[in-house]
Amino acid sequence: MTNWAGNYRYRAGTLHRPSTLEQVQEVVAAAPRVRVLGSRHSFTDLADSDELVSLEGLPAGVAVDRDAGTVSFSAGLRYGELAEALEREGLALANLASLPHISVAGAVATATHGSGDAKGNLATSVAGLELVTSSGELRTASRGDHEFDGLVVGLGALGAVTRVTLDVEPAYQVRQRVFEALAWDALHEHFDEITAAGDSVSVFTRWGEAVDQVWVKRRVTGDPEPLLDELFGATAATVDRHPIIELDPVNCTAQLGVPGPWWDRLPHFRMGFMPSSGAELQSEYLIPRRHAVAAIQSVHALAGLVRPLLQVSEVRTVAADRLWMSPQYGQDTIAIHFTWHPDPVGVQRALVELEAALAPSEARPHWGKVFVADAAAIGPLYERLPDFRRLVDRLDPRGAFRNPWLTNHVLGPP
Ligand SMILES: Cc1cc2nc3c(=O)[nH]c(=O)nc-3n(C[C@H](O)[C@H](O)[C@H](O)COP(=O)(O)OP(=O)(O)OC[C@H]3O[C@@H](n4cnc5c(N)ncnc54)[C@H](O)[C@@H]3O)c2cc1C
Repeated sequence: MTNWAGNYRYRAGTLHRPSTLEQVQEVVAAAPRVRVLGSRHSFTDLADSDELVSLEGLPAGVAVDRDAGTVSFSAGLRYGELAEALEREGLALANLASLPHISVAGAVATATHGSGDAKGNLATSVAGLELVTSSGELRTASRGDHEFDGLVVGLGALGAVTRVTLDVEPAYQVRQRVFEALAWDALHEHFDEITAAGDSVSVFTRWGEAVDQVWVKRRVTGDPEPLLDELFGATAATVDRHPIIELDPVNCTAQLGVPGPWWDRLPHFRMGFMPSSGAELQSEYLIPRRHAVAAIQSVHALAGLVRPLLQVSEVRTVAADRLWMSPQYGQDTIAIHFTWHPDPVGVQRALVELEAALAPSEARPHWGKVFVADAAAIGPLYERLPDFRRLVDRLDPRGAFRNPWLTNHVLGPP
């Protein structure tokens, strides 16, 4: 079995598919080394272990609590499935990533994010968690509880998350427009205005002559709103686009300012269609917002290195939070993403240079994507890492959820 991108083959000898919570508890308690597998959209050995558990066989158990403004559900659910259930209830989430195909628990565990100056990553919507620890014990935790902020972006290291509770709000509509051929100077000079042009803004580029596309997603309000046909010199596209310009936009959510439900506009890609390009690797760096323009310029200076390996880059913004292992802990960030051609050796080589160039910008790698930084380089970037280590030791004293990825990139040797 491989991950979604096909670049990693899981070495696990056993894949458990429990259909009840009690079975999850038994499997976890009995396994010497185990991890939970989500929808396999991460790009490395992050999710791997001797034994794996898939939660897809647990009943969805979607339960809305209107008074609390939350929805609870089984952790194996994907955002697309959750959105269908919320649609029936007239409810919505605050934000989504670029695709609805990923599992909620896997996205939350890795601080997966969408875009928006005022939007935290997807883990910030978590109001509660239910977790099976390595002793098989079931624990629950809610926002505001002691150490809850350490549990949410758990990197799969703390236990098997079996239920998630997310904040919800009344359903809303969104329009998206794409603007083309933004000049680099305009991006640098008006960066804050451009990312504030919508509730969620994505800048796509191949680091060439001009920035290629700016995707602007805005919530539809009651007020009449003129459709802009220009954004700092970039012109509004008159046909739907794919972020990778030569690919078919049929895979993408509708653009051209046509209003649609939140779940069919906030992601770039439609459920049931291939997201992104399919044959790819991905890397992404989260950078304190104060370094935004300098970081973009330092990647642009490496265009000769990056472009031969690149399908497209995306720049997004993500708001600060208090989650210990979130790259947004205590600071607003920008995200610079790379969809690479599937050339692992070339990408690995380029990442060494790219990470060196981004080090002065205090770049933190996306936990779910390909990067080279080791635990010694990453440690100083996470103020709460000592607390996280203590939490791991307490919840998983026998190290059942530890794997080589965690040792190499986060926890260091035991
Ligand atoms: C095409 C594509 C587009 C993407 N777009 C975005 C994007 O827009 N924004 C972004 O930030 N990222 C994006 N990503 C990255 C992706 O969101 C992350 O890799 C995320 O972790 C994927 O979730 P998953 O369920 O597939 O995780 P997996 O790869 O299955 O697992 C990831 C981690 O989560 C843990 N985990 C999963 N479920 C549980 C559970 N129930 N309990 C405990 N631990 C668990 C695993 O053990 C592992 O450590 C994209 C990836 C792809 C392939």
